[in-house]
Amino acid sequence: MHHFAYKKGVLHAEDVSLALIAAKVGTPFYCYSTATLARHLDVFRKAFGQMDTAVHFAVKANSNLAVLRTLANLGAGFDVVSGGELQLALKAGAKAADCVFSGVGKTKEELRYAVDVGVGQINIESESEMLSLSAVAAAAGKTVRVALRVNPDVDAGTHEKITTGKKENKFGIEWTLAPGLYRKAKSLPGLKPTAIAVHIGSQITDLAPFENAFLRVREMTLALRAEGIEIDHLDLGGGLGVPYDFSAAAPPLPAAYGQMVGRVFGNMGCKLSFEPGRVIVGNAGVLVAAVTVLKTGTAKKFAVLDAGMNDLVRPAMYDARHDIIPVREPAQGALQTKYDVVGPVCESSDKFATDAPLPALAEGDLVAFLTAGAYGATMSGTYNTRPLVPEVLVDGASWAVVRRRPTFDEMLALEQLPAWLK
Ligand SMILES: *Cc1c(COP(=O)(O)O)cnc(C)c1O
Repeated sequence: MHHFAYKKGVLHAEDVSLALIAAKVGTPFYCYSTATLARHLDVFRKAFGQMDTAVHFAVKANSNLAVLRTLANLGAGFDVVSGGELQLALKAGAKAADCVFSGVGKTKEELRYAVDVGVGQINIESESEMLSLSAVAAAAGKTVRVALRVNPDVDAGTHEKITTGKKENKFGIEWTLAPGLYRKAKSLPGLKPTAIAVHIGSQITDLAPFENAFLRVREMTLALRAEGIEIDHLDLGGGLGVPYDFSAAAPPLPAAYGQMVGRVFGNMGCKLSFEPGRVIVGNAGVLVAAVTVLKTGTAKKFAVLDAGMNDLVRPAMYDARHDIIPVREPAQGALQTKYDVVGPVCESSDKFATDAPLPALAEGDLVAFLTAGAYGATMSGTYNTRPLVPEVLVDGASWAVVRRRPTFDEMLALEQLPAWLK
């Protein structure tokens, strides 16, 4: 459920008209709904009933400072995958102890920073990283709680570019190598291996791959405990999918996911933590764009928008689909026309939809991409020297620009001509 709906013929975010924001801010822009963020966090938390759980929002899904502050104020912790994200989470108001540091290629500088600020847990993904972290922690005179991120070798059944839990993927420690590395971690200074972490991919729309991975984690927990490695915490990652295509079967609800987690881990006496990203912010955000040009050929009608693949890369990168709807509510029974909805970027992959049925569009009309709150703005760039898209946060009848559009001079501020070209 989300709080984007037509009111008096115009698509609103909560109580604010997206047409009004477009008039004030210009298009394209991202818009996020506070009520939707709060609702998703609440539903996700409640899915686990009385179990001892913690939620660490995956910052890479949406790293806008105001979004993170909103979630921090609601008590969320954070899952970070770089030193920059850790710094951002702290700036958003998180306690370092409520942050988990994940990622396959943390640098020694990043590890040192995480140890210095006292991050709650570091998820180790290789033997090399384990040795580096031990050296860093011992030098700082600290002991760090660590998990090994294990690779359970299960197929998450998602797009190949967002599957992470098969042994061919770069992520995690290979299943059969993990027990030996736990023994080693236990013997190293500065490390306290108390947890197992697993994250098998993103936009997973079936509970079976999660359950298969979790059953393996359960088995490993029991085996490690039997040899005296006291695992008391399981970090079960993120990955739960959201509906992008409202005409397709809905992905499992958090409640069903929670019940499955309870079945697998209910009696383990472990604290459980989760790293959801998409399921919290996905449909808490939309991207609003305007139609720049309509172009009719013999085979196709193109609606060229002022938003491009640099602003929302998911369709080009993952063949992802977003529902695109007009901001002005179409009349009941309005005739539909099929459009290829494309961006202005000079790439054929800059295409959002093929033969999408839409009411007849006019140049200047506004459209909204639904479910654009996750991996939208965070993956955007400036290809074709296009400015980053502004971000707006709505809370009830209030709204604010929470990242403004940069000026041309700001976009160029880091560049300089060498002496011989001046
Ligand atoms: C990306 C990522 C997540 C979040 O995944 P979602 O599909 O957005 O829930 C969680 N944990 C780790 C380690 C990740 O890399």
